[in-house]
Amino acid sequence: MLHRLTLPGRVTTTTAECFALGTDASPYSLTPHTVVSPVSEAEVQATLAAAAVHRVPVTFRAAGTSLSGQASTDAALIKISHAEPAWKELVIAPDGGSVRLGPAVIGGAANAALAPLGRKIGPDPSSIDSAMIGGIVANNSSGMCCGVASNAYHTIRSARIILADGTLLDTGSDASRAAFLTSHAKLAQGLVDLAREVQADTALAARIASKFSIKCTTGYSLNALVDADPNDPVDIVLKLMVGSEGTLGFISSVELATVVEHPHSATAFVTFDATAAAAEATQALRALGDRAPDAVELMDAVSLASAAHSSDIASVATLPNLDLNPRAAALLLEVKAPTAGDLEAACAALAAEPLFEPALGDKLGFAQSAAEAKIMWDARKGIIPIVGARRPPGTSTIIEDVAVPVSALAPLTDDLSALFASLGYPDACIVGHALEGNLHLIFNQGFATPADVDAFRTLLDRMAELVAVKYDGSLKAEHGTGRNMAPYVEMEWGPRATSLMWRIKELFDPAGLLNPGVILSHDAEIHVKHLKATPSVDPVVDACIECGFCESNCPSRNTALTPRQRIALARKLSTLEDGSAAHAEASALLDSAAIDLCAADGMCQAKCPVSINTGEYMVALRAARLASGSPWASKLALIVADNFGVATAAGRGMLAVAHAAASLVGSASLTTVSAGLNTISGSLIPIWHEALPSPPLPVSWRGAQSQPAGAASRRRVAYFPTCVSRVLGPSQRGELCVVDAVQRLFDEHLVDSYELVIPDNVDGLCCGCAFESKGLSSATDAASARLGDALAALDVDAVVVDASPCVETMRRLGAGGVPVYDVVEYLDLAARSGHFPALSELAPQPAAEPVVLHIPCSASKVAGLERVYQSVAARLWGERGVVGSDVACCGMAGDRGLRFPELRASALASLTARAPARGVSCSRTCEVGLEAETGAPWHHVVVALAERLCK
Ligand SMILES: Cc1cc2nc3c(=O)[nH]c(=O)nc-3n(C[C@H](O)[C@H](O)[C@H](O)COP(=O)(O)OP(=O)(O)OC[C@H]3O[C@@H](n4cnc5c(N)ncnc54)[C@H](O)[C@@H]3O)c2cc1C
Ligand code: SF4
Ligand code: SF4
Repeated sequence: MLHRLTLPGRVTTTTAECFALGTDASPYSLTPHTVVSPVSEAEVQATLAAAAVHRVPVTFRAAGTSLSGQASTDAALIKISHAEPAWKELVIAPDGGSVRLGPAVIGGAANAALAPLGRKIGPDPSSIDSAMIGGIVANNSSGMCCGVASNAYHTIRSARIILADGTLLDTGSDASRAAFLTSHAKLAQGLVDLAREVQADTALAARIASKFSIKCTTGYSLNALVDADPNDPVDIVLKLMVGSEGTLGFISSVELATVVEHPHSATAFVTFDATAAAAEATQALRALGDRAPDAVELMDAVSLASAAHSSDIASVATLPNLDLNPRAAALLLEVKAPTAGDLEAACAALAAEPLFEPALGDKLGFAQSAAEAKIMWDARKGIIPIVGARRPPGTSTIIEDVAVPVSALAPLTDDLSALFASLGYPDACIVGHALEGNLHLIFNQGFATPADVDAFRTLLDRMAELVAVKYDGSLKAEHGTGRNMAPYVEMEWGPRATSLMWRIKELFDPAGLLNPGVILSHDAEIHVKHLKATPSVDPVVDACIECGFCESNCPSRNTALTPRQRIALARKLSTLEDGSAAHAEASALLDSAAIDLCAADGMCQAKCPVSINTGEYMVALRAARLASGSPWASKLALIVADNFGVATAAGRGMLAVAHAAASLVGSASLTTVSAGLNTISGSLIPIWHEALPSPPLPVSWRGAQSQPAGAASRRRVAYFPTCVSRVLGPSQRGELCVVDAVQRLFDEHLVDSYELVIPDNVDGLCCGCAFESKGLSSATDAASARLGDALAALDVDAVVVDASPCVETMRRLGAGGVPVYDVVEYLDLAARSGHFPALSELAPQPAAEPVVLHIPCSASKVAGLERVYQSVAARLWGERGVVGSDVACCGMAGDRGLRFPELRASALASLTARAPARGVSCSRTCEVGLEAETGAPWHHVVVALAERLCK
């Protein structure tokens, strides 16, 4: 029914697409029948009102990184977009004490905005660089440092909430509160009655308070009924929304109090001969109160063994002999302080504590350098990827998440280790936020056979008995109840408190349409239904745990599939019967929304905990598709690679013709005509855009300059003008093109120290990058080898290259043994070594508006290059005169962004919304895409340098 909603282009009902969009990080797989992507509060209101009328269950989705099955559904999924400005509100209060955030703001982005004020948001899940505020608040997520005190429940100040019937309540507005009390008198009165009832029952109130003195996300935030003024139902609504996992309403904006973020930190790694000793030390640390470390992380013996094999931890810590001592454990400590002096004092005080006497390293030693601290943190953070990466094909990595009072930490850890051993999970790791009594249990589980499912059920049953009954702990400390722990809520809370929860649900959602089955369920088997199959499809992606961390970095996320969805769809396809309608639909989607629209930039890998480059897999699928569909393509590409000069000339010619045509028929008409040709050709023909520059005026290749009289002996340097710089001219007629800018800088400023030579027949050379992303490996190898031979023959010390994608490719594939430098990197080195005083002494000239610096994905992969560009741009316009683009990849991917402009638009949506006045970058193709989307002029930094420094 929701497909009848009038939200053009924002309602999806095709099964394959719904399956892909419905994938989340949990072990559950449900395919929504409809996916709605609203772009405003009004659209959410309309969707919920329609769902109420037609009795369609709905589930909200933020980043889909939840682990307990609370973000997946087989009904309607309401999915907010990464890019939609309506969901990205980020307004910091003038005093920095609070921040108002939209539900699609990524937690890490909020912290980046707050960092200059020395503040951050309280909730700190380890997924903070991917999880969105909507999910963070609705799960009441937390992490290493926030404990209970700084979680969303304790830091929320107000929220805009859309209720099940579509009504908007703004808890920060007197008018809205008053309207709510009138329109929803029954709900308001019901909450008042519940709060009075609980507060009158002192034993129950005390039990609830005690449960929430440790981390607890099992069931609803019943503490709302204890903490709030019973006569203020709006405050009860606000508090109940935290941790409600989309079962009580939609959060469209929240105001969170911020907390202090100290700039100085120190890390220590201490090993103990028994979990009990580590737990005792933790208890003693907790007793230190304000003097306790900010984070204390526990690793059990299995985790330590994994870390010892996969990290350098042995180089910075005394590790126990785990064969002799299989119950050993370690604590990772982090101390934070406002100043270096305070930090030193805090570390010294901790080191003097007798509680570290039983530690194997006998003295508490803090890391001596950032590198050592990183090794310690890598050992802890590497556990999930290690378990995930080594899991047998077809199994899922499960992360359970429990908490007990710190006094029960040691016996619980021992009991859990024994449980895993007895049920046949020898690789299960136990790690956690020890200071909070919070443990994460990480293990691999298959769901292929009924026996597998039974084993999983038995494990959860036994774990629940231990945690909830034996130790009176929380079955979900921070990840949310979901459908994973819904059947155990009553075991943990008892019948009285559980019935309160059902009454809350009834009041907010009498028809039971908001995320049914999540948090509360009458189905005792819900936690073992719809379990995910993870069949093997390709070694490059088989380790994927479907966490979704990669999604926010993917340029195609707003128009096509994300890396996680690409992998999930490929897995699904492998299970469908070849020739069936479902197979055809999934296969067509994989072709169009996964393979075609992948920029192959590898930006997903940068955020992937198991280091998967989905682009690599997409390129392999592209190559396979070419090999089967167009067997001639590879041969044709080889001919092009062998005759690249002709291709370059043809490119320049076509651009000139296109410009002539645009001036004759008008740019808009040419765009229409080329868009038609693009459709007919199956997206092979690029779509014209007026930002496409004319080819550069005939460029003179200078050849080697003669040695000036009196100059000392010079370094011989090759300049490789890349094909994009040879074909694409400047942004505006009359401006310098990249090739001229490089040569003029060397001619006018560096001729005394450097002899610049250009390979013969440079028009015939290509680094191979133009072929590589298309999966044309033979042509890539041929082009790369030819360029390498040409450079080797020049007998030079180095080659400078004027486009970062080519720098990255040449460094990776080799360049005839010649060291490869980005041109600005080389100029910066020359300045630093005293050969380019005009640059080293350059006085910044800030522009009227800050210049936006875009670091392309390729440049971010070249060690140190981003820093060089930031430093040179700061010398041109001053530190405050330059701002980053905050875009990981522009989506141009060579010519892909011209053939699929939706990829470019998707990648640059957030930058376009910022309406920059001027931008600079280091790749001409990226600059063209940036100019096309933002409408502002974009240049290569080397052009800006030449314009400032050359006559
Ligand atoms: C490797 C890994 C590590 C993790 N580590 C932690 C950790 O340290 N601590 C922790 O707490 N969690 C952790 N998680 C779980 C998860 O990342 C967090 O709970 C996260 O905050 C969920 O945010 P999300 O944006 O992905 O929300 P989603 O998963 O999309 O949604 C979460 C819940 O919120 C609801 N929801 C989403 N948006 C709204 C909205 N606007 N209004 C109302 N309801 C909404 C959904 O229906 C769902 O029930 C981890 C997950 C992974 C994969
Ligand atoms: S590719 Fe990596 S980051 Fe993306 S979902 Fe898979 S494991 Fe997570
Ligand atoms: S390579 Fe780029 S476009 Fe392709 S899946 Fe990864 S991030 Fe997305």
